[in-house]
Amino acid sequence: MQKRINVSVRDIADFSLNQGDIETRAGFSYRESALDGTKNHIRFQKEMIKQYGKDAFTKEVYVEDILENDEVYMVITGRIDGILKTDISDTSDIFIYEIKTTNRDINEIKPSNRPEHLGQAHCYAYMYCKKHNIESIRVRLVYINRENQDSIIFEYKFTFEEIKSIYDELANRYLDWVTGIRKWKVIRDQSIATLEFPFIEYRDGQKKLMKEVYNCINDGVKLFATAPTGIGKTMGVLFPAIKALGAGLVDKLMYLTAKTVTSKVAVDAYKKLEKGGLNLRTICINAKDKVCPLEKRDCDPEKCIRANQYYLRARTCIKEMLHEQFFDRDIIAKFANSYNICPFELSLDLSNYCDLIICDYNYLFDPRIRLQRYFDYENEEAFCFMIDEAHNLVERGREMFSCSLNTKQIQEFKTGIKKEWKALKKSVNTLLNEMKELENEHFSDINEGFISQEDLPSNLIEKVNKCLNDIMMYDLSRIPEDKREGFLDGMFNLLYFARVADFYDKRFTTLFAFDSKGLDVKLMCIDPSYLLKEGMDMGRSSILFSATLEPKRYYMDLLGGDMNMDSYITLDSPFPRENLQIKLVTDISTKYKDRDMSYERIAEILKKEFSRKTGNYMAFFPSYAYMRRVMEIFSVIYPEAVILEQRSNMDDIDRSLFLERFEQFGENTLVAFAVMGGLFGEGIDLVGEMLSGAAIIGPGLPMVCPEREIIKKYFDDNDMSGFDYSYTYPGMNRVLQAAGRVIRSETDTGFVLLIDSRFGTSKYKSLFPKWWNYSNI
Ligand code: SF4
Repeated sequence: MQKRINVSVRDIADFSLNQGDIETRAGFSYRESALDGTKNHIRFQKEMIKQYGKDAFTKEVYVEDILENDEVYMVITGRIDGILKTDISDTSDIFIYEIKTTNRDINEIKPSNRPEHLGQAHCYAYMYCKKHNIESIRVRLVYINRENQDSIIFEYKFTFEEIKSIYDELANRYLDWVTGIRKWKVIRDQSIATLEFPFIEYRDGQKKLMKEVYNCINDGVKLFATAPTGIGKTMGVLFPAIKALGAGLVDKLMYLTAKTVTSKVAVDAYKKLEKGGLNLRTICINAKDKVCPLEKRDCDPEKCIRANQYYLRARTCIKEMLHEQFFDRDIIAKFANSYNICPFELSLDLSNYCDLIICDYNYLFDPRIRLQRYFDYENEEAFCFMIDEAHNLVERGREMFSCSLNTKQIQEFKTGIKKEWKALKKSVNTLLNEMKELENEHFSDINEGFISQEDLPSNLIEKVNKCLNDIMMYDLSRIPEDKREGFLDGMFNLLYFARVADFYDKRFTTLFAFDSKGLDVKLMCIDPSYLLKEGMDMGRSSILFSATLEPKRYYMDLLGGDMNMDSYITLDSPFPRENLQIKLVTDISTKYKDRDMSYERIAEILKKEFSRKTGNYMAFFPSYAYMRRVMEIFSVIYPEAVILEQRSNMDDIDRSLFLERFEQFGENTLVAFAVMGGLFGEGIDLVGEMLSGAAIIGPGLPMVCPEREIIKKYFDDNDMSGFDYSYTYPGMNRVLQAAGRVIRSETDTGFVLLIDSRFGTSKYKSLFPKWWNYSNI
């Protein structure tokens, strides 16, 4: 059966002819560049109408053509910027206009540098000639400079035959390409149809999870699933999602993780299925700063050879890569090196041809990083998003949709502005003046302080937008080398600040903080739920899963769930209840004001419980300071124990060395002191004797601070429990995650000590998992 594919003329021309560089202003292209380009188009079109009259110049002319073979029915569409008929009755003088906006000096423009522009105009010309039966036509390629609106026109004349042969070559090349993709999908779907579950048995709860996942994808709704360790949740989500892909319910899968380490679990699950015969093109996308091979990253095509003429080499590279079906960081780096192209950009381009994309949350939700190719244009592919460790998305959402602007940053940005860029210099000075005015308004007689307001600082946003509009006029490649980094960082920050201002509504607040470094203005997202929902709504279905997605109401509220439409399930732990002992110590207060009185007692309890049996243990604290005080006493009263300490600045290597130490067990007792919610509070797998028990000191509440208090007030004002939404639930999530480190397999046994008087209250006990077996000691 033929598959209908819609494609734009621009895609066809870009596909075969784009030999260009990576667009370093990509961050700009989604809004300012497009707006600016549109403005210039409209201005030019108006001038043409004024000069030739409405009957002679027609703007935005829709064209369409169809190409097909046995596999694909390809509909090619586009809009011609303008058609001029100088003599309306004589069809020999018809001009097709293709307008492009540029930052470059128009005298430097050579159409041969961007053959895809002329290619686009060729396609339009052919489609127009074909429809109107025209024998010859002229093409005018117009470049307009953003800064001064100067324009240059390149004119060409073609016969119908000439233009047809160019078009045929371009369009057929694209048709062959999409046919190849279509054929791959047939192979893929056949492998999915026969794919068997890769284990002999389902684990308890796993089958239920799989059924829910499939049904939710089928119904086009979200699933929130609390699936404790041991259920096999990664496979329990991935397997039915792949089946749904094979059944045509979705076109692409995206597996989103909060941390790179957790993506490994998804890769392992995929590899298992691949061994069982699955043909699925799968890619892991890693952050630019992790994959860039250069010591000093500068993506300007004039500075980085791998960005220069990237598209010319990337096409062949991708063609070669598609003989394989799995692409991780190493494989992508290998190909990128052999073609001398940017590995990051290659991973994004390659993802177009992949069925499963494994990446960070950012690539769906963060407006700065989101894969615009899938979500900002009219992409017709239906996605299923699988969101792993979804409890992290609440705080990540807040971070992604908040942005700060400070005086120092703006000043640094200003130093990169060239003398002759007068308009930009002026608008930045006006922005700095506005910051000064805000500083005087709120902090006139104090040296430091903090205030918040519900309204958006509109004057400030206006000045930011003015700077952004002015930036668009200049050729940024002219910024002096030593000023580039500061300028570009400042520019992207301004851009993001304006972007967040677009989202700003009653779910945001503005924070002004002032100290010796100057004023800092933060647009803070309090409730990210609707923005997260908007992200997920770009797909057909989202599966949000975690071992700790309770309480239901809290996570559904904050992660954009709909209590009426979406599904929620909680699964029991598949492990025997008696394997995990929860011991409550409720006669100690770990509240901030009582901590001084608790150090010795806690050290003694740790010694008593951890010395019962030689083994490896962890103790999780609410802060580094608290942790160190107890650790000092513990090391004195229990000198035989080996102590490991988490430090605040640990990198990936430190982290691995820390965890490697758990591979030794049985000779001495090891006690690792760590903080809750940190590097070791979740996402680590210490199976069997590697970890015999853990102590959790306090209910993990976030520190009281102005931002937390704002969150509390917001939810109180909206008839929800502000304290719980701001402190209790995020805190208990850390507790449950830390406790989850102890039992990682069916044969694991161990205990968790919960130390704090609040653990003895019914409120906190109601937040314990139902399968927990707890008692006081
Ligand atoms: S290789 Fe590095 S510097 Fe070059 S374009 Fe890629 S990320 Fe930028």
